[in-house]
Amino acid sequence: MNFEDFSLDPRISAGIKIAGYSIPTPIQEQAIPIVLEGRDVLGIAQTGTGKTAAFVLPILQRLTQGKLRVVRALIVSPTRELAEQTHQAIKSLGKKTKIRSVTVYGGVNKNRQVEALRRGAEIIVACPGRLLDIVSDGNIDLSQVEVLVLDEADRMCDMGFLPDIRRIIKLLPKERQTLFFSATMPKDIRKLADTILNNPATVQIGMIAPANTVSHALYPVPFALKKNLLFAMLKNTATGRVLIFTRTKRRARFLARDLDKQRYRVSALQGNMSQNARQRAIDGFRNGKYDILVATDVASRGIDVSDISHVINYDMPDTIDAYTHRIGRTGRVDQSGEAFTFASPDDSPMVREIEKTLKTRIERRRFPEFNYNGFRPENQFQGQRSNQPRKKLSHPKNGSRNGTSQRNKGYTA
Ligand code: AMP
Repeated sequence: MNFEDFSLDPRISAGIKIAGYSIPTPIQEQAIPIVLEGRDVLGIAQTGTGKTAAFVLPILQRLTQGKLRVVRALIVSPTRELAEQTHQAIKSLGKKTKIRSVTVYGGVNKNRQVEALRRGAEIIVACPGRLLDIVSDGNIDLSQVEVLVLDEADRMCDMGFLPDIRRIIKLLPKERQTLFFSATMPKDIRKLADTILNNPATVQIGMIAPANTVSHALYPVPFALKKNLLFAMLKNTATGRVLIFTRTKRRARFLARDLDKQRYRVSALQGNMSQNARQRAIDGFRNGKYDILVATDVASRGIDVSDISHVINYDMPDTIDAYTHRIGRTGRVDQSGEAFTFASPDDSPMVREIEKTLKTRIERRRFPEFNYNGFRPENQFQGQRSNQPRKKLSHPKNGSRNGTSQRNKGYTA
């Protein structure tokens, strides 16, 4: 199948060429014809599958007909980064059309957004809080919305946006097309989808399992040696762009500082940074100013940088969803990538969870050029295949004492 099969407006086909897409990804193949028909869609797909274009292209097609400068499509995103990424996709795919998109999210000047809305746009890409804020000021008219997209619905739920989403839906015409995208389908998300979708077609791509272009490996390491292992790895591995995840904003900040001291071209990306500083970090990563970005989960949502060679989970993610999202940052579409996860003994329950859910055993590796100081990585996480009962792990001497979790004691980066 190719893009011509969708019979899109020639101006949109020109945008696809500009974006450099040659063939549709599986989710685009499945979803675009259904969305073009006007049906509601429940899309179960993670970032990295091409899901943004899967809804943007048919929306652009719809908007090439009918009124201009009236808000006819609303895309709701959990984070500013994802909203910005979607907005950029619309700009590039819709470059040859007259369709305009406006972003609406917090942390930046509200008046500019209101001015952009006044100038007129057909698409709003918004985060829930600022959208409701501007609506309550009377500066957005949502009465003509024909298509609603809820993107990364599971993440919005995790971030506590569910009540806001319900409020937003009440502001929209009942007669509309709704496209609902989520990487996972926990109970509350399923319930929300059931209440707002009308006879939806379900499109499911690679539920939960990360893109198969990614090779995963687990590096057992005592908590206290993580930083040294990372330094050894960066020194001895051929990498391109590297995205490192930490559990907390503070740890992202400190680790970026320590890498900077080692003369790496690195930036942090975490929620305490201003929107401008975050954008500078993402842009710098994209345009090659930085080789390494040290990010937290929330701040990293929607980083649209295509050729990330390595994702390193410096800290184990809290949830399986976070694991698949992080890993989804590498190996995008037709590229391959490597994902390394540092696992200290306290992380064994999460390792088991991930393996059970992904129904696969992640390869354990020892980094040959690293002095483990007597720690035997090959003895950690052994035999914990997904279907086996839990085993108690022994704690290394330099790990946590008395079995007390390091996590509970707070981190020292
Ligand atoms: P998404 O899952 O929407 O975040 O898309 C992931 C990445 O794939 C983005 O960098 C897109 O620009 C890119 N992409 C989307 N569709 C295609 C396609 N058909 N061919 C190549 N790259 C694509």
